Amino acid sequence: MKKLFVKNLSNKEPTKDITLDDIEYKIPLATNKKKRIIKINNKVSFSEKTIPIIAGPNGVENRKLIFQIGKLLKKNNLNIIRGHAFKPLTFPYRSSTYLETKFQGLEYLDEVKKYFKLLVVTEVTEIQYLNRICNTADILQVGSRNMQNLELLKEVARTKKPIILKRHFGASLRDLLGAAEHILVEGNEKLILCERGISAPHTHRATSRFILDIQAIQALKELTSFPIISDPSHASFWAPYVPGLTYASIASNCDGLIIEIHPNPSKSAVDPLQPLNFNQFDKVIKKSREIAKIFQKKII
Ligand code: PEP
Ligand code: MN
Repeated sequence: MKKLFVKNLSNKEPTKDITLDDIEYKIPLATNKKKRIIKINNKVSFSEKTIPIIAGPNGVENRKLIFQIGKLLKKNNLNIIRGHAFKPLTFPYRSSTYLETKFQGLEYLDEVKKYFKLLVVTEVTEIQYLNRICNTADILQVGSRNMQNLELLKEVARTKKPIILKRHFGASLRDLLGAAEHILVEGNEKLILCERGISAPHTHRATSRFILDIQAIQALKELTSFPIISDPSHASFWAPYVPGLTYASIASNCDGLIIEIHPNPSKSAVDPLQPLNFNQFDKVIKKSREIAKIFQKKII
């Protein structure tokens, strides 16, 4: 072999993206391995034994839709509805059938929450809406686009509410844990991290917008002790892939799932290719229960 290529590689201290120095000085709270159970109420906690399902449409389009979803969740013995009244979109234009329902949408969520005794996950996009959203939400979602909106993270943390922090599709795990640290340093430890797909140049972009980074679920488990949930809907952007990615996430030890659903997906005001219809959702939940059982976990 040419001398040029012969090197004494010891590999004694291999490092991944995150170094020991990072763990000690930059993300000490995010990587603290103390055991955590994030209890939302008496029925629902994010822990090693349970996999809460967070399901609903993309946007809170109207009252009827939210009630249809609430009924479906109850039928499946599930506890958490999701839907955004405030909704950032990739492009500034909205269909004529969908304008953000904002405060009205929050009222629909209030109604459905009371009627079906469900917990609510909804997104916070702006500090100015935070107080009002906190009256409705049991868990605040910070979306991928706001992952590093540090002022927002700080204020969201100060509410003391549980928070789902979604990984931006271009963010490394180091970036995600750095963002998490901004929440933790405010004294809010009710943190749930969400893998929702990453962008990579070599994915077949015509058929899936992002790649669900299944490895990230396990890598984050190595690094932190916060619950790690998976969002196959936003990762694949394609309903037919959602069941398989859901099962793979369970097998990869996820602590919860976000699944987008709609009674008539093609009529969904946003991202009509990704929600499951009700029938598909019933089947996914049934099979997920069987798969979770293999891992001694329970879908709730
Ligand atoms: C969503 O949860 O509806 C959403 C838009 O998520 P993300 O920020 O991951 O795109
Ligand atoms: Mn969505």
